[in-house]
Amino acid sequence: MKQKLLWLLVNLCRFVVAAAFIFSGVTKMIDPHGVEYKLQDYAEAFGLASLMPSTVAIVAGMLLALVEFRLGFCAFFGIYRRITARILLVFMLLFTPLTLYLALTNPVTDCGCFGEALVLTNWQTFGKNIILLLCTIVMVVWGRTRQLRIISESRQWIILIYSQIFVLCLGFYALWRLPLVDFRPFHIGANIPEQMQDGGDAEFVTTYLMEKDGKQQWFGLEDYPDSTWTYVDSKTEVIGELIPAAIDNLQMYDQTTGEDLTDMVLADEGYTFLLISPSLEDADDGHMDAYNRIYDFCQANDYRFLCLTSSNDSCVVRWQEMTGAEYPFCHTDNLTLKTMVRSNPGLLLLKGGVVIGKWPFTDMPDIDEDSPRLEQSELGRLHVEGNAKMALKFFLWFIIPLLVVTFLDRVWWGTSIVINRMRKKHNIVKQLNKKTMRKKIVAGNWKMNLNLQEGVALATELKEALAAEKPNCDVIICTPFIHLATVAGITEGTVIGLGAENCADKEKGAYTGEVSAAQVKSTGAQYVILGHSERRTYYGETVEILKEKVDLALANGLKVIFCIGEVLEEREAGKQNEVVAAQLESLYHLSEEQLANVILAYEPVWAIGTGKTATAEQAQEIHEFIRGIIAGNFSEKAAEEISILYGGSCKPSNAKEIFSKPDVDGGLIGGAALKCADFKGIIDAWN
Ligand code: PEP
Repeated sequence: MKQKLLWLLVNLCRFVVAAAFIFSGVTKMIDPHGVEYKLQDYAEAFGLASLMPSTVAIVAGMLLALVEFRLGFCAFFGIYRRITARILLVFMLLFTPLTLYLALTNPVTDCGCFGEALVLTNWQTFGKNIILLLCTIVMVVWGRTRQLRIISESRQWIILIYSQIFVLCLGFYALWRLPLVDFRPFHIGANIPEQMQDGGDAEFVTTYLMEKDGKQQWFGLEDYPDSTWTYVDSKTEVIGELIPAAIDNLQMYDQTTGEDLTDMVLADEGYTFLLISPSLEDADDGHMDAYNRIYDFCQANDYRFLCLTSSNDSCVVRWQEMTGAEYPFCHTDNLTLKTMVRSNPGLLLLKGGVVIGKWPFTDMPDIDEDSPRLEQSELGRLHVEGNAKMALKFFLWFIIPLLVVTFLDRVWWGTSIVINRMRKKHNIVKQLNKKTMRKKIVAGNWKMNLNLQEGVALATELKEALAAEKPNCDVIICTPFIHLATVAGITEGTVIGLGAENCADKEKGAYTGEVSAAQVKSTGAQYVILGHSERRTYYGETVEILKEKVDLALANGLKVIFCIGEVLEEREAGKQNEVVAAQLESLYHLSEEQLANVILAYEPVWAIGTGKTATAEQAQEIHEFIRGIIAGNFSEKAAEEISILYGGSCKPSNAKEIFSKPDVDGGLIGGAALKCADFKGIIDAWN
């Protein structure tokens, strides 16, 4: 439950951060000039105006927008989750104190974090940043594995590159033409006089402080007192909500007469072209013929044409001389001009105060004095694409390819999961099939324990136990030589196989104290353990000696339980594979038919009689390796058929887990084979 809540919290935070950063990046990128002006405002407020010329501000603004967008995008899709969360946190740790400072000192009124799309006060921005900071902390602390991935790692680069290119195109489009979505109050279709009016239901109420006979009292207009009262003071209060006008500083003063033409231009029901240039010094003059042709068109058709600029008269004269401009000029506030159109110069067509059209200098309307009148042409008609429609268009252009790629990725991902599951299931079944083909064996190695009577008692007890409950595997007991003949009489005709713990490396003759393979066989035993680590260590049995023993045992019709395994130092040095491969050399000369009578027993020496067991995984790993060696030296078939037992502190409590591994076919048991209950417990692991 707690985990689920944490998961929800992490993903909620991550989507909040993603939405804020994507929106912030896109709204900035849509309007690089807007960000340029904002950065210049900041630079000026901090006395660093000289460090922020136009080009620097545009590049910095676009980089900032790109970084914000990329971070938001990565957070949204769950791309580079850890690094993204960390960078976001660093970002927020930098910007939150900065916005607090801005809120306290108010050097610029609107922070500009969402461009012109959503204007926030500095305190609102600070509040927003506190929320984002908390969200990024959640992402860093708990989000490493909990952020849901929306696209697979192998394909994330496709959408990342696509989205970055798309968003950069948005910026370059805005620089070359105009912002794709116009959030300013001069957008096409905007009614400028309406945008110049305050909104809300605010009322201005004035009250007056009057005095009579030394007594002062406040009056409203409705109860204004007679002339016996004298006026002292007054105050005006705003009652209700006042929404300030979107356009608060639009005036057009004729450059030659100084006359304010604003009302006349905005009220004009005919067409007016406004050529807008915040500064003629920096304006593009490469398209001056187009500006002049449009002016000629206006002259021929009796439309108004004004050039609005905040440049001084000498700049106007220079422009006239340079471009041959004959049109009249008006002075207008610089910031307002920059807001009107993001191009220097840009062109606005007004009719009845409504913006009918808007063009950057790179895309001036192709008209001259012979062109049809605006009343009869498309140009003069208002095509309100509308901000919402335009935004939707943009959104779809961006989102549809993204959705398609993401959808295909998810389908691919889902399919590969199903295929993998099926493959895994198939592999398990295959492994199990292979395993069930092989003999499952539990063999006991009594070593030099138990006298004859004790051995007989143990063999008898085991025989009875297994008669009562048939084992699900082959059972073998390997006893000292002195037990063999007697125990053979007990095990004969039962499920229990009998083996010796060793045999001589000589066929027969004067080898005092030795017991040959033939002699072992003659007791009724069917198996012999060879290569046990104790014999290798204490009796110096080498690969060559064991080779002889194996040959003699097989030649005498005994099945060999061949032991291999590394010592602790070899395991610690990671040499276990090398060691067992070398020990197996005693078998490489055998034919496949001979190998069919060999059972392998992997017994890590550090686990024999020590109570330390190899983990089931360690056992599986090396058993798989051993099977691989057999496949390499004999054949796949031989490898699949040979039983490989595990030995080393195997007990009823761990046998089941070890035997469950696909390449473990049973166990060679030492200490636990000396008690019937323990040995039976291990045999039962196969049930
Ligand atoms: C052994 O000696 O073969 C053996 C596996 O011993 P234990 O089970 O006692 O570790």
